Amino acid sequence: MSDFEQREVTIRALKSFAADPFLREFFISSKTFQDFLRPAANRYIVGENHFELFGKIKNLEHIGYNTGIEFAGEETSSISEINIAVNEYINLIDSIEEGNYNKPQLGFDLSNLGSGISKEIAILNCEKICQKAIKKDIPIIISMERSKWTDVILDIFFILRKKFSNLGITLQAQLNRTYDDVKEVIKTGCKIRLVKGVYDESRDISLPRGGELNKRYLELLREIADNNNIFAYATQDPKLVDMIRGEGMHKRGEHEMLHGVRPELIKSSRELLTIKPRISCVYGYNWYLHFMHRLAEHPENIYQAFNDLYLRNKNKELYSHHY
Ligand SMILES: Cc1cc2nc3c(=O)[nH]c(=O)nc-3n(C[C@H](O)[C@H](O)[C@H](O)COP(=O)(O)OP(=O)(O)OC[C@H]3O[C@@H](n4cnc5c(N)ncnc54)[C@H](O)[C@@H]3O)c2cc1C
Repeated sequence: MSDFEQREVTIRALKSFAADPFLREFFISSKTFQDFLRPAANRYIVGENHFELFGKIKNLEHIGYNTGIEFAGEETSSISEINIAVNEYINLIDSIEEGNYNKPQLGFDLSNLGSGISKEIAILNCEKICQKAIKKDIPIIISMERSKWTDVILDIFFILRKKFSNLGITLQAQLNRTYDDVKEVIKTGCKIRLVKGVYDESRDISLPRGGELNKRYLELLREIADNNNIFAYATQDPKLVDMIRGEGMHKRGEHEMLHGVRPELIKSSRELLTIKPRISCVYGYNWYLHFMHRLAEHPENIYQAFNDLYLRNKNKELYSHHY
């Protein structure tokens, strides 16, 4: 097996561990497993509670970033977990107001709000959050999930966007359908966050990582920018970021990255002094999926993770200096 093939197999393996229901259950039920992984996950998870989250938000705002907040969670069909997620977002909005933070953008997967049970439940829950957020002028962005959910997510978005001007959506460049979806979404005038897409999708509906996908990403971004939509280019790919800057699109949209991933890259966006970049901060106790996805999208992070496990809890403090 060549090095390239070996890397591809590792990515596939990590994505399958991320999606494995048994491992996800095991993570939730085993405090020992959580404690073992935590020193490595701390790089990507800003905290497990509001106190830790808002400490980090304050620091990032202070040094010149906009922020995003996402409560870590997964596809769920448990009503009690869905209610926990909804209440969490409602409480977050109160905490943002009380703490006088700089209107962090709230993001979530609709499958955490009930789309796996029914569209109606997800609409009701998402509406509750949007209603509370719009009164405080807090932006909301819906994440995009596996392709089997794309239609449901877009349907919900189109229904709610008519009522909530603070609502935006994430689109995945890797899916072939996104050429059509972007045209429809642009018409709503909402904020669009363009990502490559983290899920392993079949080749008949998607492009794999590589030059073709980067080319498509740029085409889609141009179309969004040319139609004057507010947009974020959410990528952690230094080459793609260079291409976006080369076309001057960094002066029109914000660069958004996940906390803990390549801080030097988003720092360089901040130092350009164009549009303030945004760091998306994931917090909460159910961080297995988020952590596994960060390893899968760049398997070299496994070395870093083992290093963090070996050095135990020191990485959190060391890591915050790089921003
Ligand atoms: C703010 C934000 C929101 C997102 N929301 C969604 C969503 O709603 N739905 C969805 O499907 N996906 C989402 N993603 C994930 C996204 O789709 C990609 O999987 C992820 O950004 C990796 O793709 P990439 O463009 O960064 O580059 P890739 O093509 O995956 O990688 C190219 C290069 O970028 C660098 N890189 C990428 N990731 C890492 C990493 N973790 N650590 C170190 N280097 C890295 C490496 O140098 C790598 O070789 C989101 C990402 C961000 C930043």
